[in-house]
Amino acid sequence: MKVLKFGGTSVGSAQNMQNVAKLVTTPGRKIVVLSAMSGTTNNLVEIANYLYKKNYDGANEVINRLERGYLDTVNELFSGEEFRIKGLELVKSHFDYIKSFTRDVFTVFEEKAILAQGELITTALFNFYLQENGHDSVLLPALDFMRTNKNSEPDTGYIKENLERILSEYSETQLFITQGYICRNAFGEVDNLQRGGSDYTASLIGAAVDAEEIQIWTDIDGMHNNDPRYVENTRSIAEMSFDEAAELAYFGAKILHPTSVLPAKLANIPVKILNTMQPDAPGTTISSSQHKNRLTAVAAKDNITAVKIKSGRMLLAYGFLRKVFEIFESYKTSIDMITTSEVGVSVTIDNDRHLEEIVDDLRKFSTVEVDRDQVIVCVVGDLVAENKGYANRIFEALKEIPIRMISYGGSEHNISLLINAKDKKDALQALSAKLF
Ligand code: ASP
Ligand code: MG
Repeated sequence: MKVLKFGGTSVGSAQNMQNVAKLVTTPGRKIVVLSAMSGTTNNLVEIANYLYKKNYDGANEVINRLERGYLDTVNELFSGEEFRIKGLELVKSHFDYIKSFTRDVFTVFEEKAILAQGELITTALFNFYLQENGHDSVLLPALDFMRTNKNSEPDTGYIKENLERILSEYSETQLFITQGYICRNAFGEVDNLQRGGSDYTASLIGAAVDAEEIQIWTDIDGMHNNDPRYVENTRSIAEMSFDEAAELAYFGAKILHPTSVLPAKLANIPVKILNTMQPDAPGTTISSSQHKNRLTAVAAKDNITAVKIKSGRMLLAYGFLRKVFEIFESYKTSIDMITTSEVGVSVTIDNDRHLEEIVDDLRKFSTVEVDRDQVIVCVVGDLVAENKGYANRIFEALKEIPIRMISYGGSEHNISLLINAKDKKDALQALSAKLF
């Protein structure tokens, strides 16, 4: 069994869906995971925000616009009357449901029910299209097997048990279609795996069915060795390890959702990143094989805030870092990078929602400085200590760029540097020129 996930752009129009249908109707047993058509989830978030504010006109305007888009897609997608009518009725029933929320109380439960509609509509339309074209595909409702536990983490035991049970009812079926992103929570309510979570769905399903391969189909030919928006002549990396992929996914390479690496790694299932627009390109294969003696890629993460905490009391004291970390923890703010000296510590955060309170608390026992508009540049590769000279090449490349923090040795495949946002483009270009 293979698991193939297609993102919102890959199914973003009738024509693109027809294209995806060609890619999934090749021989072999498959579970196809789809995101909602591109833009849908953003629109659903917008609708929910209007409904929270009881702005029904605002909500209706977005609902009607989105519904019209889906009706147009249906008219283009199907060639015969039977499925065209089925499609129109399906879209209408989901939008009637969304519209029903403009008359009632609106809470987080209703919001999650609305957010689930995009994937539900998109997969149902796609499955109708396959059926219209004579394929024996089965639509698997993700809400019947995808589940999170009381800690909002995937309930992998539940997922495996229920998915296996459902699949065993269709032992002859070769092609299954299901929704990415959506799930039920520990209380059985409709929920989701957070924005961009369809990759996570694919990885969890891959692990649950012990797939031979997980394919993430997107609109670029794999993970590149630098950010193509800032650097010319980047190239796709043929192979990388799960650890390298996890660092790159977290530090800015927006191709694969960071959460999706772990389930595949634990189950040791290779993940391929492939391009819907160029299906024959080799893409990137992520697996447990390690790649020695190379620097693999550079990525950058924007909107980072650095907090420098200095205190005479840190000198020769123990428990100082614990006090610092507890403050960030109490505001549910995670720390990404950290560097220390004997009299101070600098940390970075990518979520500054509680920055003011955090700084207030830190100032009770230390001097605090905050730098906004920072960027983490991360170099990923075989950076074990024995590999002499790699750090030198990185610093040589960046010799004209002011560096605010350096983190090395946290893992064996990453050096992270904190720089000003305005130097990002120069830094990425210089690194590409010197390293690749
Ligand atoms: N449709 C969801 C989103 O836009 C999930 C996904 O695309 O992965 O966040
Ligand atoms: Mg995505």
